[in-house]
Amino acid sequence: MSRHLQYPHTPVACVVVPSRLHFTDIPIAFIHKEINDWQKVETGGALVGYIEGDRIVITHASGPGPRGIRRPYSVRIDGAFTTEFAFRLQSASNGQLYYVGDWHVHLNGDLSLSGDDHNAVQRLLRVRACLVPYLVSVIFSRDMDTANAYRYDQFGKPSRMLVQFGGTPSWTEAVQFHP
Ligand SMILES: [Zn+2]
Repeated sequence: MSRHLQYPHTPVACVVVPSRLHFTDIPIAFIHKEINDWQKVETGGALVGYIEGDRIVITHASGPGPRGIRRPYSVRIDGAFTTEFAFRLQSASNGQLYYVGDWHVHLNGDLSLSGDDHNAVQRLLRVRACLVPYLVSVIFSRDMDTANAYRYDQFGKPSRMLVQFGGTPSWTEAVQFHP
């Protein structure tokens, strides 16, 4: 598998700046299990979904990958793994779903972006990892009661987003939604 990002072309017109981040049930169930399986360390991964109007819908989440490193105060996400994860979903959905950012957990209850978190997003923006003009970084609490979501614009400036959970669409419905 090539390490270059050979994404199919997905034109995404962002007429409205998305202000809401909507997690559907499938990625939330995955993240819940991942956090429960790794209680003493930080974990995280990639987020895949689509933009519709003023919201970014998350349809899939991954873990940090086999070469990812979970530590008590940080997690290193395996970029080759998450690129492959996003590429597979993007191909399977004929370009309707795509990489939109990353998630991780903070164990201490402070859900603000750390300096390292901020720098990680700047690195992703520099390599243009994301197809859309936004890249999100979501921080969950350990009990998953709350999450902070930040939308970075192409200039690397973060803004808080409203986070919503639950319901459809599932990813197949998400594909049908954008035929
Ligand atoms: Zn962090």
